Amino acid sequence: MAVKPFGLVFFPAFDWALTPTHPEREERLLYTRDQIVEEGLLDIPGIREYKPRLATLRDADRVHIGVPDIGSHITDAHLVSAGGAITAAEAVVKGEVARAFALVRPPGHHAMRVVHGTRGFCTINIEAVMVEYLRRHHGIRRVAIVDTDVHHGDGTQDIFYHDPDTLFISFHQDGRTLYPGSGFTDEAGSPPALGTTINLPLPPGTTDEGLHYVLDNLIIPVLEDFRPDLVINSAGQDNHYSDPLASMAITAQGYASLAAKLRADVAVLEGGYSIEDALPYVNTGIILAMAGLDYSRVVEPDIAAAPRGLSDGTRAYLRELVAKQGALWRERESLSSAAAAKAGDFWTRRRGIYYDDSGISEQQVERLRLCPHCRGYLAVATEAEGHRTGYQSAFAAVVPRESCPACRQGAKDAVLAAKRQGKYQHYYIQDKENDSLERV
Ligand SMILES: [Zn+2]
Ligand SMILES: [Zn+2]
Repeated sequence: MAVKPFGLVFFPAFDWALTPTHPEREERLLYTRDQIVEEGLLDIPGIREYKPRLATLRDADRVHIGVPDIGSHITDAHLVSAGGAITAAEAVVKGEVARAFALVRPPGHHAMRVVHGTRGFCTINIEAVMVEYLRRHHGIRRVAIVDTDVHHGDGTQDIFYHDPDTLFISFHQDGRTLYPGSGFTDEAGSPPALGTTINLPLPPGTTDEGLHYVLDNLIIPVLEDFRPDLVINSAGQDNHYSDPLASMAITAQGYASLAAKLRADVAVLEGGYSIEDALPYVNTGIILAMAGLDYSRVVEPDIAAAPRGLSDGTRAYLRELVAKQGALWRERESLSSAAAAKAGDFWTRRRGIYYDDSGISEQQVERLRLCPHCRGYLAVATEAEGHRTGYQSAFAAVVPRESCPACRQGAKDAVLAAKRQGKYQHYYIQDKENDSLERV
């Protein structure tokens, strides 16, 4: 029986950087590319390289509500990055390759549903654009996204917070000690999706041993239980012990054996800023592990500097974390019903969201209709203020897939009522069933 090849997509985005000396720059992938060529990975018959396609604005509009529109916030590089993720996933779904890794930038996991600008180097959420593309064009339904970046994947969490068909698991350095300051255990999904967002804040300095304890005792069993059609890995690499932006202690071997256990169908690169000391080794390790090849010899030259072991305090904390989140997972159905009963007809959330790269502060109110017949519609009111962009506001309603007629009408009525009051500058209906983002 022939073994299916492994797919690779590269897009270093030469012409995209927030500033010339910013840590999020093209060298991130160039050193990796050199390492991969040097190791002869591209000469292995089992590894097949794909050119990234260009995603469309329509692909982005399926996920985001850009204010005033998504096109005014992004460059072609964003569409190639998202398109690269789609290329990788489509190769898997069509059965051309067994698994695939999109080594693309700019990254995406801090980009939320509403977009007023750029935050955490992200403007559109490339994994979410990929997932919704697969749902639209390939009939994929249940998706698990495991975010292994050191920063909480707050954008991905936001986009799928009301969707019980998407399991989102993020482990990250504790938000009390790192951007974006979220990802705590009580962020678990809105009532209809309670339990399908799982946050695992890890103490600074967590080593391979600590990470793999959480992986073996929580992440892998939950994934097996959820039975997704597709497992996605948001493959950030800034948990590495040499990363300049964070304080964790994961090695290339730690990441590679994580990839081997996770068996993700598609990995999409996120962060990772230790350009010379970590990325070439971590990426090579992930590629070999995902391709089912021997990764045991992938070792950083300065591996002696990697912290080892686990303090008693961290060990006790991780044991408690796994017990708590495991209980939430097992009891999610009854917790979800209780939360829905408590909320009544609507669940409301008010938040402040900061766009650190654009200097924009957003105030957002979400109102989710809890419907006994369907997933319910979501109404989002947003007001943002930026020193360069001034005041921007919008009101949008999101109609889910398989919505009931009452919710479809309710979404429309909510937007029309808001428009009559005239408080906002822009009004939208995002309709997942008809695959449209309509300006009202
Ligand atoms: Zn990161
Ligand atoms: Zn309904």
